[in-house]
Amino acid sequence: MADELNTDRSAWLRCYRCWSQRLEAQVHYDAILRIDPETGEPAERIDEVQESVVQCLDCMHDQPHLAVDEGRVVPIEDRWERLVAGTPWVASCTVTVDQDLVEVCSGPEAADSLTYGAFGDAGTREFFTHVRFHKHDEERIVIHLLVELYARSSNEATDVLEAAARGPLEITSLAEESRPPAHAADEAH
Ligand SMILES: [Zn+2]
Repeated sequence: MADELNTDRSAWLRCYRCWSQRLEAQVHYDAILRIDPETGEPAERIDEVQESVVQCLDCMHDQPHLAVDEGRVVPIEDRWERLVAGTPWVASCTVTVDQDLVEVCSGPEAADSLTYGAFGDAGTREFFTHVRFHKHDEERIVIHLLVELYARSSNEATDVLEAAARGPLEITSLAEESRPPAHAADEAH
């Protein structure tokens, strides 16, 4: 299966959850232009920031294994095989972090802020997380979460959680869920 995935664009250019190939990219540009004082026209492009999210039109989920690079969708090398070929795993866990890593821990921003504090970018961009509660322990915060992530084995799921955790991680349970139904049965591997 690995060889097939490596040689075929359709292996990664698809939704990692339902394997649909109906994808859409939302691209936002932010540009800073120097203005020519004679004409009022932009004379020079000083900086440009591009942000993009690829989404599946069938299940509407974001695609964290895909990025837009110079106008073309490319796979994220250390992530796409795990997401496309993996199954969902649900972990119940705690991450203990320095309180400075959490910006706010109450109010409407709290869940995002605690998730980012616990798992950084992977927490907010790749995993589905539910913060159950958190406790303050002197200078530290113990964050209890339920996390769904895609992996090909329980070992890989554990490795990914450990790599993402921004402080000591304790996994209380880890269970494999069934993959959502594929978009088209004849495309299933
Ligand atoms: Zn999908």
